Amino acid sequence: MAETHHAKVLILGSGPAGLTAAIYAARAGLEPMLVQGIEPGGQMTITTDVENYPGFADAIQGPWLMEQMQGQAENVGTRMITDTITSVDLSHRPFTAIGDGGDTYKGDTLIIATGATAQFLGLESEEKFKGFGVSACATCDGFFFREKEVAVVGGGNTAVEEALYLTHHASKVTLIHRRDKLRAEKILQDRLFANPKIKVVWDTVVEEVIGDTSPPGVTGIKVMNKKSGDESKMNLDGLFIAIGHTPNTEIFIGQLDVAADGYLETQPDSTRTNIEGVFAAGDVQDRIFRQAVTAAGTGCMAALEAEKYLAEQESMPQAAE
Ligand code: NDP
Repeated sequence: MAETHHAKVLILGSGPAGLTAAIYAARAGLEPMLVQGIEPGGQMTITTDVENYPGFADAIQGPWLMEQMQGQAENVGTRMITDTITSVDLSHRPFTAIGDGGDTYKGDTLIIATGATAQFLGLESEEKFKGFGVSACATCDGFFFREKEVAVVGGGNTAVEEALYLTHHASKVTLIHRRDKLRAEKILQDRLFANPKIKVVWDTVVEEVIGDTSPPGVTGIKVMNKKSGDESKMNLDGLFIAIGHTPNTEIFIGQLDVAADGYLETQPDSTRTNIEGVFAAGDVQDRIFRQAVTAAGTGCMAALEAEKYLAEQESMPQAAE
């Protein structure tokens, strides 16, 4: 039977932002309730080695880091819920979220940390090599391609920035774009074209990722020139997909301020949204940095702001019934 659950702090999302918010809220004695969502642990669970999360001298595994964060959040008093929210009502407090099994979750405050989903090309072979040469984050994985050959797919700011970043590690970077014109800002394009390590391949799409299965790893890609129809093979060790991210904000549209590109709007230097008592942290409101450590940072901010908001509410004289 469907049940109703209530908490002072309701958190949606179980990546670094949601779990850090939970750790801080729990340690503040607020007994937060965290609804994990469809992918417990978030994007970190689809990475392998993590070398840039501070505190670990040796590489750690993304899924392991998320297990640790979840354990930490539970140990300090977070109520962890396995459910996926399908709709919310933010028109009055407590805020309400409905799970896909029909349960209702109510929060005096709400921290949204539903993250973003990296877009991929949708190839079966690409799926097979995710974490084994196929990545959507050069900052996370570029280091593993020292003196190797890699390609980046995309023509926007992210693709160009990732290609430039990868030149610090890789011996050769090929940018593959489906058109003959980049979408990226001119200043980035100028840097791209001036970099001797980068080659741009125009009007081209990736048709297949080729690789070994034991040990698993990418060895090349099959591409097609859209104008000539010619197919060819490119040898490389890594493929970075930079064709955009989709913030997971559908259920908030119409209730919260959402930017044209889908990200939740927050106030400067804050995680506050346009609704008092509703906060947003992590990739759902960050189109620029998208790092586990920055998500954790904004998760901490959201919990501190929720705590302050609740304290202010409690100190306010109650309106006469
Ligand atoms: P964008 O949407 O700007 O660009 C996506 C790119 O991927 C486009 O060139 C697009 O091609 C290509 N693409 C999309 N789908 C496919 C597909 N299926 N196959 C092949 N190519 C595909 O995304 P970004 O992540 O680059 O940027 C998102 C936002 O963040 C932008 O507003 C950007 O300006 C901003 N940003 C700003 C930064 C900064 O200020 N330093 C850094 C990074 C991002 P096509 O051009 O043909 O549509």
